[in-house]
Amino acid sequence: MLKTAIDTMTRAGKSAGMSDKKIEQLLEIEQSHEFKIEMDSGKTLDAFRLQHNSKLGPYKGGVRFHPEVDYDEVRALATLMTIKTAAVGLPLGGGKGGVVVDPKKLSQAELEEVSRKYVRGLVDHIGPHKDVPAPDVNTDAQIIDWMVDEYSQLTGDKTKASFTGKSIENGGSEGRTAATGYGGFLVLDEVMKHNGQSEDEITIAVQGLGNVGQYFVRSVRKHRPNWKIVAVSDSSGMIYKKSGLHVEPILKLKERGKPCTECGEADPDIEVRERDEITNVPVDVFVPAAMGGVITYQNQDDIDVKFILELANGPVSAAAEEVLFNKGIQVIPDIIANAGGVTVSYLEWQQNIDNEHWSEEDVYKKMKEYLLPATQKMLETADEKKISYKEAAFVAALQNLES
Ligand code: NAD
Repeated sequence: MLKTAIDTMTRAGKSAGMSDKKIEQLLEIEQSHEFKIEMDSGKTLDAFRLQHNSKLGPYKGGVRFHPEVDYDEVRALATLMTIKTAAVGLPLGGGKGGVVVDPKKLSQAELEEVSRKYVRGLVDHIGPHKDVPAPDVNTDAQIIDWMVDEYSQLTGDKTKASFTGKSIENGGSEGRTAATGYGGFLVLDEVMKHNGQSEDEITIAVQGLGNVGQYFVRSVRKHRPNWKIVAVSDSSGMIYKKSGLHVEPILKLKERGKPCTECGEADPDIEVRERDEITNVPVDVFVPAAMGGVITYQNQDDIDVKFILELANGPVSAAAEEVLFNKGIQVIPDIIANAGGVTVSYLEWQQNIDNEHWSEEDVYKKMKEYLLPATQKMLETADEKKISYKEAAFVAALQNLES
């Protein structure tokens, strides 16, 4: 992932007319904080926070608890946060952090201890106007609520703007849960309008039916009933129906924690296939919404689509994206496609600073004011410079960072 971030930024930096030195400077991390968490049990955990760039505002990015938190991956993700916030025009920078721990092996009390001690280790380097972390892999609203409480106790801060992703009762924002999937739909709709296809019966395949995948599917169903979801997958397998899947029963199964393949039993026209075959289904739009590294130089030849909407972070490698673009396939990049999440995080921070609580309707109205112009800017830059959407989004972000 680090290589993809560096390669894409280097290519875009050159298209934006930047010198090699300037591109190198933009890839550097501004501050790196590495420390140990001493648990009451006697165990010691490695913890860190990487702060990539704060030119446009406080650092922003998740904290993950995982046994294999990898420094290079976190560095790539911190860099991509800087680019993402710049691409969408948010007054924020980029950061990312983590603790090397398997939360499944911790009791609830130990999980709280790790969360609070993480904040104690970083208290001088984070805060509403310095660095505003959020949930990420294995961290949720409960963990963030503990972190905010610890930060408030240590500093006396009453705003709750030190972290985003809080529970609604504790200053979280309406609309955050659906923001990434709904935002992804809005971006795709804008691209389809630009290409004169939004009224067509476009076909879609969605990989991953977690939070993001489910809310994307719901948004398509609600706002563009003419679009057909023909394939979906989860970790159990893939289901396909050429004439279009009936999505409500699938979403009901997912809400009950069941695999999507159970739907295949009820409808003889549904084909149940191997999970990873979803990348080979011929559709207009493929939507990777599960994990990174799904489409690489090695398997890109199997892809038979017109667009890829990157709802996961980094699902298409830089090398694959270049080849796909030359074949006429556009990748709508993660830094725009899944930016609904960070946009609503920013709106949560703003509500906390102003001591307000907005309705979901107001939150989405404001979210659109960032996502839609950013998508337009990407499309215009791509048309003007005859470059891919991905490169165009990076060029626009780098120009925002430079201005
Ligand atoms: P999630 O854990 O809720 O869902 C992920 C889903 O993917 C799970 O249901 C899992 O069963 C499924 N999955 C795992 N391996 C799979 C495979 N090989 N094939 C098909 N499905 C598979 O996570 P999420 O919050 O929906 O996030 C999904 C992706 O979007 C991640 O890459 C995340 O980093 C990215 N993302 C999420 C947000 C957000 O707001 N949640 C914001 C930006 C980016």
